[in-house]
Amino acid sequence: MSTRALPAHPRITDDPEVCQAYAADVSGLSRTPEAVARPESEQEVSDILRLCSDRGMGVTPQGLRSSTTGASVPARGIALSLERMNRVLEIDPERQIAVAEPGVVTAEFKRRVGEAGLFFPPDPTSEEECTLGGNVACNASGSRTYRYGPTRDYVRALRVVMADGTAIDVRRIGANKNAAGYFGFQNPIDLWIGSEGTLGVVTQVELDLRPHPPGSFGALAFFSDWRQAIRFVMAADASRRRGELEPRCLEFFDRHALEIIRPEAGGLRIADGAGAAIFFEEEVAPEDAAGAMERWHRAIEAAGGLADETVIAQSQAEQSELRRLRHAVPSRMNERGASAVEKGGRRVSTDFAVPLVNLPVVMEDAYRIMEELFDGFTVAYGHVGNGHPHFNLLAEDRWVLEQAEVAARQMARRAIALGGTLAAEHGIGKLKVPFYRELYPDWLYSGMRALKQTLDPKGILSPGNLFP
Ligand SMILES: Cc1cc2nc3c(=O)[nH]c(=O)nc-3n(C[C@H](O)[C@H](O)[C@H](O)COP(=O)(O)OP(=O)(O)OC[C@H]3O[C@@H](n4cnc5c(N)ncnc54)[C@H](O)[C@@H]3O)c2cc1C
Repeated sequence: MSTRALPAHPRITDDPEVCQAYAADVSGLSRTPEAVARPESEQEVSDILRLCSDRGMGVTPQGLRSSTTGASVPARGIALSLERMNRVLEIDPERQIAVAEPGVVTAEFKRRVGEAGLFFPPDPTSEEECTLGGNVACNASGSRTYRYGPTRDYVRALRVVMADGTAIDVRRIGANKNAAGYFGFQNPIDLWIGSEGTLGVVTQVELDLRPHPPGSFGALAFFSDWRQAIRFVMAADASRRRGELEPRCLEFFDRHALEIIRPEAGGLRIADGAGAAIFFEEEVAPEDAAGAMERWHRAIEAAGGLADETVIAQSQAEQSELRRLRHAVPSRMNERGASAVEKGGRRVSTDFAVPLVNLPVVMEDAYRIMEELFDGFTVAYGHVGNGHPHFNLLAEDRWVLEQAEVAARQMARRAIALGGTLAAEHGIGKLKVPFYRELYPDWLYSGMRALKQTLDPKGILSPGNLFP
């Protein structure tokens, strides 16, 4: 406990039960904050930051704490929850934009814009349990990133409260030509997207929307093993480039992921003998759906898959069922990881991604690394259309945790060597800080530290995220 007096503000409480409730995220890390602030307006965020800045007190913004990397765990100081700033302020069908507060739950936002005939493509699997502010702070992705890109592509403007309490407006520069200096700084809005709460608190987001697709269907196609499934993904992507198939996502389930969803599948039949599956969706008008499904059937057959066993979801309800199953895999793994925390274990999840052309080789390497270095339960699933599978290693106790971390690092190193990244959507948080240092040459790393020092000279924002 700090000996400093807590800032006095009606939205700040140090009630131990409340503090405990904001201590942890999904990563398995936790630390009880000195106090919890739950502002209801930008002015209150500003006042609270000013008070904390005067005291040099750490402030960790929080959405719904679905971070898997410890990013929303308050390493020191207070937790600043944005959950009460949860209003959609404007939906403009004419300009196809919406303005919202940061605490709006992502799925709720999508439902609201859907009612206005519009579509917000980013779809993190956690969309029912995360916020727009958290999505911006992590540059969240989802299965539809394959077709539509990550959250960054939809952020037009932000309001941000800086470490000293000053509120600023940052707007994306719209010109499609720009030769004014260093590229990384030409559109400063990009600095906040993906900054994991280290450069300011997002208090308002203005987002680009798309017209609602004329219709869509989803499907789960089964394959004998993961290699066959990945060959299908490569073929489907090639077909997309030739204009023959139009997937908006290509998501992977390995054998163990299928085991996880089987008991939850209800009426949806998971093919016996399947060793892997690919979940895909296509946007198509109802009258063209039969033709599109026929094309997919032929593609699954050509890849050697169990084409006749494919589960097809046409109604909205059936499609939601398939997406629920997709969500069940990380969700159950998180639960199993959480129950290992007592013995010093947790779920270790990779978040690396490679250029799609290198997906088969990185998958081959990742499975080999897991087999050589890790003894526990593993599962692989995720956004393979983006070259972004998640390998999860369930470390039941602290001895196996070490093995799991070594294995996950080796996989990420391999991905980087293949032209990829260590963290494609979950960010660095606290868990990947040592690796972040390793990722960049000294000159680039010190440039990023200098930026942090300029915008947050007292180092109060999200201490422990990105930098030690
Ligand atoms: C089951 C499951 C599935 C997931 N699937 C995906 C997926 O498909 N794609 C994906 O991208 N992620 C996924 N995630 C990770 C997570 O949901 C995302 O990172 C999400 O964007 C976090 O949002 P949140 O509101 O929970 O933020 P939090 O976890 O509360 O915070 C995350 C980070 O954002 C910062 N932050 C939050 N709000 C603000 C704000 N207003 N201003 C400044 N900083 C802020 C925090 O300080 C922290 O650094 C998944 C997580 C789970 C548990």
